[in-house]
Amino acid sequence: MVNPVQALRALQEIDTDLFRVTEELRRLPEERARRQAALDALEASIADRKAAARDLQVRVKELEDTVVVQQNRIRKLDKESQSSRDVSVIEACRYEMRELRRQVDESEREALSLVERIDTAKEEAGQLEQKLADERAVFAEFCANVESEMGDAQARQESLRARRDARLSKDLDATTLDLYDRLLQARGGEALAMLDGGICQACYMQVPPNLVVRLARGTDVIQCSSCDRILYLP
Ligand SMILES: [Zn+2]
Repeated sequence: MVNPVQALRALQEIDTDLFRVTEELRRLPEERARRQAALDALEASIADRKAAARDLQVRVKELEDTVVVQQNRIRKLDKESQSSRDVSVIEACRYEMRELRRQVDESEREALSLVERIDTAKEEAGQLEQKLADERAVFAEFCANVESEMGDAQARQESLRARRDARLSKDLDATTLDLYDRLLQARGGEALAMLDGGICQACYMQVPPNLVVRLARGTDVIQCSSCDRILYLP
């Protein structure tokens, strides 16, 4: 009967690489999705600026239309005041004209400041569009690399799995294998640790002497009391 720890060490030799390659196969699509989301957000922010510019343009048009109406009214009042001989009518016309001119000034000032904001929004949208085009090109290159890296990683993963299956000892019971697999996942692909001078070489904690004695007997699976890794002797 093979010592279970020796059988696990044979597996661990492959599993360190297998864990890394599996992580890579998980990480690469995540990275791609993250970059895609960043591009989508950039696109949305361009659309927001363009929509803001359109809304402001509508407001500017409203202001311009109002000014046209007010100026027509001013011209009408001017004629009225010139043709009238009634002082109170003339006074009333002049008063309303002053008030309208003040409103026209106000509208023109507002329209001017809105036009500046429209220009800014359009300029920002233009800059972001350039940025988006650049980042899309980078992303396309990244995606091509991801495809090729994933192809390589899948081939490595398959070959490692085949080698692992060949090494999988029939002497390993299901409980031990299950413990080993759980530790692999929980401890970043390193389920085993060497015990040297009573100290676990993965977490550098002292292991109780009774465990060292049991490990030396070479029949039991002994775990580090601190990091839970399965221990082996040098
Ligand atoms: Zn440990």
